Amino acid sequence: MRQPLLNVFFCLLCALCWGAPPVLSQPPDQGGAEAVGWLRDYIQIATVNPPGNEEEGAHYLAAILAAEGLSPELLTSPDGRTSLYARRVSPTSEGRALVLMHHIDVVTTNDDWRVPPFSGRLHQGRIWGRGALDIKGLGIAQLATLVDFERRQIDPGIDLIYLAVADEEAGGRSGAGWLLDSQPQLFEGVVGVLNEGGSNRVVNDRLVWWGIEVVQKRPLWLKVTSQGRGGHASGLNPGSATHRLILALARLVEEPLRYRVSDAARIYFRGLAKLDNSPDHLYHHLDEVIQPDGPTRPLAPGVPAYFVDTLQVTELDNGRGSNVIASQASARIDIRLLPDTDGDAYLEHVRQLLGPDIDVEVVLDAPLADPSPTDHPVYRALESTLSVRGPVTPTFMTGTTDSRFFRQRGIAAYGFSPFALNADQQRGIHAVDESIPVDGFLRGIEMLKRVVMACGELR
Ligand SMILES: [Zn+2]
Repeated sequence: MRQPLLNVFFCLLCALCWGAPPVLSQPPDQGGAEAVGWLRDYIQIATVNPPGNEEEGAHYLAAILAAEGLSPELLTSPDGRTSLYARRVSPTSEGRALVLMHHIDVVTTNDDWRVPPFSGRLHQGRIWGRGALDIKGLGIAQLATLVDFERRQIDPGIDLIYLAVADEEAGGRSGAGWLLDSQPQLFEGVVGVLNEGGSNRVVNDRLVWWGIEVVQKRPLWLKVTSQGRGGHASGLNPGSATHRLILALARLVEEPLRYRVSDAARIYFRGLAKLDNSPDHLYHHLDEVIQPDGPTRPLAPGVPAYFVDTLQVTELDNGRGSNVIASQASARIDIRLLPDTDGDAYLEHVRQLLGPDIDVEVVLDAPLADPSPTDHPVYRALESTLSVRGPVTPTFMTGTTDSRFFRQRGIAAYGFSPFALNADQQRGIHAVDESIPVDGFLRGIEMLKRVVMACGELR
């Protein structure tokens, strides 16, 4: 059930005070409240992956686009996962296009939420629910941009492709991966992609920098399986499937980590060092601190992952019942490779450590891809627009997004969040009580419009 819109109007006034340029500002009682309503509705469509249920979300977005005279297409993969595509053609684009992309699916929830996770509730100036931050908020900001340009017949000088994809949270092969493989004609003329993955630093409500993600680690997800004689657990059976698997996994997790400084880490830490004049910044000492056996001084939490291929055993499936020996045991492993790690060599090493008794299935992997360049028109458009409010720096993320499917094809993709939120406001990503402040959401929409306009101007 919807809450009264009083809070929205209050926050809209704040958004106007922030000062969008007149050509792109929205009347507060129309565009802003409408976008808030769309986000609340969109959150209420539970698109938890698995199974995703993206079709319902895609239909919702398609109805809004169709009502504006745009022509959305729903595209369903052979395994039944629906994505949405719409292209708004510019008369002056000369065929060039910019992709505005988000994923429809969200991760699961649990019972610990203070508000129902699919309520889309408006409370204390925030919109609550799974997907508010990751990443339906961005999807609605992109939609609001497209709709506003269409209503006011604004020509940004570049075709805009609105792309809402399925399956990102499970690797994206049935969404962005499938679309790019099977329908490459949809992406003709694409010069760049704006997607999730940006990370902005905000301290005490002051934006310190905008982080544009240009490179990320690559997933290598495995399912490993052992076989053995099953039976009653009271019997002697030291070579059971579960025991074999435990011993093999132990060899894997005990393997010492090898640290190194990749080009991606240099790009990232060099950018941060420019913003931090301290001569003690890690960037100035990377090669001295990052040694193969480990850092020579303590690193802040989260930083080591920029210098190692990580490996996590995330799931175990080893029979049912305390007194039953299973004849098969399996585990799932989530490996995140540095951008330039030789994936084949890494996988071969894993196989050797596990030993010949363990079957290894690759569930998800990603080929090498160059970082998206910072001397590209889309990056320059981001830089020129955002720098009015704060410095812009390229970032390297240890997670994964669908941007990799474009980068693998040589198309520049940038992780960009138009929302300047502090760490506390972003705490709900993949966690409980996900929510986005209404004022930050509305300011983000205005910022996104400016970025898109700048993308069209630069050649
Ligand atoms: Zn996401």
